[in-house]
Amino acid sequence: MSMDSIRIAALVEARAAEYDALALDIWDHPEPAFQEARSSALHRDLLASRAFRVTDCPEMAHSFMAEKGSGGPILGIMGEYDALPGMSQACSTSRQALVEGGPGHACGHNLLGVGSLAAALALAEALELSGQPGRVRYYGCPAEEALGRIPLVRAGRFDDLDASLSWHPADVNTPHHYRTSANVALVVRFAGRASHAAMAPQAGRSALDAAQLMNLGIEFLREHVEPGTLLHYVITDGGRRPNIVPEAAAVSLYVRAPRAEGVRAALKRVLDCAKGAATMTGTKASWEITHGKCDFIPNEAIHGAIHETMGQIPLPRPAAEEKTFAKALAATVGRKDREATLTMIGAPTALLSKAIHGEIGDFGRGYRIGGSLDVGDVSYIVPTGQMNAATWPLGVGAHTWQSCSASGSTWARRQARWAAAVLAATGYRLLTEPRLLGAAQAEHRATRTPWRSTMDL
Ligand SMILES: [Zn+2]
Repeated sequence: MSMDSIRIAALVEARAAEYDALALDIWDHPEPAFQEARSSALHRDLLASRAFRVTDCPEMAHSFMAEKGSGGPILGIMGEYDALPGMSQACSTSRQALVEGGPGHACGHNLLGVGSLAAALALAEALELSGQPGRVRYYGCPAEEALGRIPLVRAGRFDDLDASLSWHPADVNTPHHYRTSANVALVVRFAGRASHAAMAPQAGRSALDAAQLMNLGIEFLREHVEPGTLLHYVITDGGRRPNIVPEAAAVSLYVRAPRAEGVRAALKRVLDCAKGAATMTGTKASWEITHGKCDFIPNEAIHGAIHETMGQIPLPRPAAEEKTFAKALAATVGRKDREATLTMIGAPTALLSKAIHGEIGDFGRGYRIGGSLDVGDVSYIVPTGQMNAATWPLGVGAHTWQSCSASGSTWARRQARWAAAVLAATGYRLLTEPRLLGAAQAEHRATRTPWRSTMDL
């Protein structure tokens, strides 16, 4: 027996109240990166109660995997649950913190984690009901806003997957055709020799001079790197007092490029600037790569299946009060800023005549956003598909008080369930249609690279 998308969507809807309560609970108790003990436990406990086998991943606090099914291919579904510091916000149409300076779900991860969880549960149930082989594995991915799932990637947790899926709360419904940028973060330290800056300057070797010369080298380097490469830095240690030649200095840097390969090339030249500055100043340079993300490689075979499935599962229809709320919230964002969230991914600005995206889009082919996403690293390892679901009014961007407010609304929770149904039904197809999975894997093979993370470049 086979399951169609409508039947799989019904499996999500049968437990709508439970999923809505969980998404609201996590929105009510936002935990920022590295502190998601409660949110992680809620996800883990629900999966365990539905006979998922839970595995802890000691390489990262509050991360875990939970699997159900047997034999067949393995599909990963990724969830996140961290909030953003300082973004506390009521579910209202004006800026109003619930806890002054407290965290808030301005990236909608209360919806992301629960939507992916509902997808994994419904997919496992669909496999059971239809007697199909195959395994579904939920990944609890903490600290997405900071380090991200990189320790899990480097520990090989995704290596045995046949494909993976995720989604993100957004202002439009579309497969995630657009790419993200690759980056690497590093700290460069210089060690010199302290001396009295007036009494014995000749005895000193200034680590701050080295930091400044390295940064100057980077300024000249900007002109001669691959287009789209971005170099950002701050001096985090520049010495203590002007009358002491600084013995130590530190610079924190980000190197960003359209592809991980470009990050590798630019990083090498940034390190040459560090070495050159050390030679010029008679100091010693050392560096540490602290984190990094690969660009997201969209898998168009999976995105095609996501788009088809989106068309099969009816979008929720907003109630009158949900429309009014969305309209009032959208009105707090300037027209230019609303347009920018759409043009960034190639969506038409004509959509802004409405407050809610009530249709299926197909946006982003050939586009790239400047930001980086740790799903990118997973997309380097296995064929990965993502989608956006419109949980926020059109033109509302992530990491704003408006997105935090909207993420606590009834409308957002209904959309999260719709996303869950689309992911579950797409996952079912990937596990039961060898031709679709084969196409996704063939497409992925063409993009393989020899490294696993920009941190290993
Ligand atoms: Zn996010």
